[in-house]
Order: sequence, then C-alpha cells, then structure tokens
Amino acid sequence: MTKHIFVTGGVVSSLGKGLTSASIGMLLENRGLSIRMQKLDPYINVDPGTMSPYQHGEVYVLDDGSETDLDLGHYERFTNSPLSRDSNYTTGQIYLAVINKERRGEFLGQTVQVIPHITNEIKHVLSKLAGDDVDVVITEIGGTVGDIESQPFLEAIRQYSLDVGKENCVYIHLTLVPYLKAAGELKTKPTQHSVGQLRQIGIQPDFLVCRTERSLSHDDRAKIALFCNVPVEAVIEEKDKDFSIYEVPLSLVENGLDELIIRKLGLKAGKLDLAHWHDLLHRLRNPNHEISIAVVGKYAEHHDAYKSIYEALDHAGIDNLAQVRIQRVHSEVVEREGAERLLAGVDGVLVPGGFGERGIEGKIQAIHFARQRGIPFLGICLGMQCAVIEFARGVLGLEQAHSTEFNKNTADPVICLLDEQKTITDMGGTMRLGAQPTVLVPGSKALECYGRADISERHRHRYEFNNAYRKQFATNGMQVVGTSPDGGLVEIVELPEHPWFVAVQFHPEFKSQPTRSHPLFAGFVGAAVARHAARGERAHEAERR
Ligand code: GLN
Repeated sequence: MTKHIFVTGGVVSSLGKGLTSASIGMLLENRGLSIRMQKLDPYINVDPGTMSPYQHGEVYVLDDGSETDLDLGHYERFTNSPLSRDSNYTTGQIYLAVINKERRGEFLGQTVQVIPHITNEIKHVLSKLAGDDVDVVITEIGGTVGDIESQPFLEAIRQYSLDVGKENCVYIHLTLVPYLKAAGELKTKPTQHSVGQLRQIGIQPDFLVCRTERSLSHDDRAKIALFCNVPVEAVIEEKDKDFSIYEVPLSLVENGLDELIIRKLGLKAGKLDLAHWHDLLHRLRNPNHEISIAVVGKYAEHHDAYKSIYEALDHAGIDNLAQVRIQRVHSEVVEREGAERLLAGVDGVLVPGGFGERGIEGKIQAIHFARQRGIPFLGICLGMQCAVIEFARGVLGLEQAHSTEFNKNTADPVICLLDEQKTITDMGGTMRLGAQPTVLVPGSKALECYGRADISERHRHRYEFNNAYRKQFATNGMQVVGTSPDGGLVEIVELPEHPWFVAVQFHPEFKSQPTRSHPLFAGFVGAAVARHAARGERAHEAERR
C-alpha cells in the first residue's frame, strides 16, 4: 500500500516548500524507500509554459516533454525518482479535465460542482503515482493556506485520508516563525493562525516545519506544539541556510523528521547513509579555485528565471572544486555599455535560452567578445542560436544574418523555424519538447565531456540551425558536432580553434545533480578554471557563500 505525504505552506509564500519536499524525498529514498514526487499548483494556466519568467521563473522541462513548475527541478536534483506528466498538475488542468468530461456527457445530467467533481478529479491525480512499486508519494500543494485558489486542493487532500486510511497519510505544514527585532523574540502567532486555518478545514498537520532565522527555544517549541495541537517533537526547526540549499536535508535529519515520518507511516526502512552528501558539502566548503562566470540573459535580475542554470554551474563547481561566482549580466546593459566593460574579468560566458527579441544584440555582443578573447563559452538553446548568428555576421561576413524569430525577412536566415512548427498556431505545449537523442562526432569537445557518442537531452524550442548554411559554417571554422540520429537537426556546434566554445540546442541544465554534475557544465567550468589558472591569478581562499 502506497503511503502519502502532503506538504502545505502557510503564512507567506516562497518559504521553500519545494526544497523541503525534495529534501524529505531525498532522505526517504536514501533510506531505501521507493518514492514519487508531485506538485499541485493552484493557478489556472494549464501549465507554466505560457507564463513569463518574470511571473513564474523558469519552465522546467521533463523527459516526456511536459513543461512544469521549477520545483520539479529541486525534486530531480535531490532525488532519483522518475518524473512525468503526472508529477505536476494545475487548477487549469483539473478544470479542463472535468469540463471535457462534462462535454462528453460523462456526468449523466448531474450539476457539476467543486465538491465533489473537482475534488474527485484532484483525488484521482493524487492516486496516479501510487502503485505496487511505490512506498511513498510526496505531494506538495502550491500556494499558501488561506488562498482562495488552494481551497479545492486542501479539501481533496483532507478527503484523501478518509479514502485511503488516516494511518497512510502524513500532513506536513511548512510555516514561518519570524524574529521581531523590536521585541527581541521569535513570534509564533502567524504559525498558530495558519495551522488554525488548516484545522478549520479539517486538516490536523502531523508535523510543522518551522522556517526561522534563529533557533527555536524549548519554550517556543512548547508553545507552538500546544497551540497547534501537535507533540513537541513534531515541531521541526528549519533554520535559514545562508551557505547552501544542500544543507536543508541535514537540518531535517537533526530534528529526526525522516524517522518521525517513517514511524508515523509504519514503514520499514533502512539506515541513512549521507556520506555522499557530506562529501558534497565538504567540497563546497573547501574549493581550490575561485572563478567567475557571466550569465548573460534578459532576466538577469530575476533569480528564478535561470534557476537550473545557476544550480548546474554550482554542481560543476563542486565537481571541479571551484567556487563559481555567478555574475548576472543583463544583455540590454551589454548593448548600452559594451561587452568589454562588463565581461573583461570573467573566466567564462554562458548565454542561456530565451524567447523574444529584447536583449538579443547584447547576447550577440557578449558571444563576440568571448569568441575573440578565447573565453570559455557555453551557449544554450537561444544562446546557441545567437552564437550561430554572431559567427555568420562576424566570420562569414553575412551582416544581415538573423533568426527568423526576430527578422522574418532577413537576407540570411541562419536560424529558421523547424519544419514541424510551420503549421502550429497554439502556444501551449507545442514546441519541440522533451528528451531527444543526439549523436556526437569523434574528436569533439562534447564527446570528450560526455565520454559517449549517443546522448539524450531535453529540448524546448521552435527554431533551428538552417541546414542550407552548414557547409559554409564548417569550412570557416564552426563545426556541427552533434545532430539528431538522422543527421537532420543540428544539436551542437563548436569552434575547434577556440579553447572551449560549445553551443547546444538543448537544455543540459535540466539534468544536472549536485552529486553528479552535468558533463557539459563540468567541462565548461573546467575550462574556465584552466583559463583562470593560466592567467596566473592565484586562486583565492574561498569565502563561504
Ligand atoms: N526562442 C528560441 C526557439 O524557440 C529558443 C528557445 C529557448 O531558448 N528555449 O527556438
């Protein structure tokens, strides 16, 4: 019988429910349990694919091509549980399914209502990941308790324990215990209110994970326990981690949360073995080098827009024993102030994916700078397309070269719409999405990084390298070193004459883990470390982040 853990959040948003859920998953998996992770999002968009990164942060793409919430990135970085379309549902998807059923006449004349029809549909998706080979499904409920949008989800998880048995469900509530400077103390009232709201709708949380900047005293714990109707040991402290998010699982272990959950659910589990995790933190704390990598994008000021990229750079730093200082460079500022001023000191330049024309010329200038100065460069998706445009303009002399995404009538459309995209008009879920195979060419840097010629990476794009220009690029020094198995689609280009210049049509950042850095990121950061060393700058004693 599969057990269920529900994670809700209260008081404020952005408490790190995703990280906490991922950490719980990691600990249970480490103890030999088979887990599945799921996120339910209360917004009405069918998926985040149509939302601006300013609104929602990055769109995280899975192997099966679903465009999902960025918390699923945490799940994949912390655990090895397989994710699929069933791992992320939104209110939009739930209503769409119910309305489609209604249109097909499946409700046989009933009035279709939030309870029971919407809640039944939610319970259906909760049960989808359960199965003989799954010990625990961890479902994170997006949003904050008290939001109107969250109500049907909370009602459904309440009902769920009646359906499958109370002993098979655990409710974990993540809450904030703020420190009030003026009073000089931690305040438990917001937590009391938030748990009060949960209890009003019939959910008594089993565990309270308390986000706080100061340690909870025994009195704080006792007070929270009393007012929230839980035993003192169920009050779990999760103190702010200013060093690394990868410390979160350890702080949960210190509070015994894994053991408490396992006991509550009556699971048989093995012992924790966190040696690899301690090793990872040790490497993070004791780097031999310090390098700086510029990430040049148009959402530079918005941390979540390039979340997986920043994480993958950190992982590559761990792999190379290097502290990676990430410089977020706004591509429009490059246009105004020039690449030299902003990028002169960096050891590597990364241009990430994106859509739309704003800031494109700044990205192209940054790539030009990296190409000419021999600075290690990694281009991802739009970053690759910009590298192709830059090479066409700067080396092939095709001054008008562009992508037809930005100039439909360009004389030299070196990047053009994928054939399969030409008849598509709907925006949601219609790009070339998900895992696609790529074959690598012998002698390439990509092959050197991956150590194998057949790879699979995740995609999310509508435009591609225009094959009509392949030969012209190759004879002038930009090589196609990775293609789809039939050779038809260009997946990777490189400049063999450059110390490290690799650009890929796919998104390697989605497959990087802290304990297993992505090969391309590891290679890129390795090249940046080499450049840094070659410049004769002594590696600094790394400061703690
Ligand atoms: N806008 C480009 C395309 O659709 C790049 C997409 C991306 O970077 N994810 O092909």
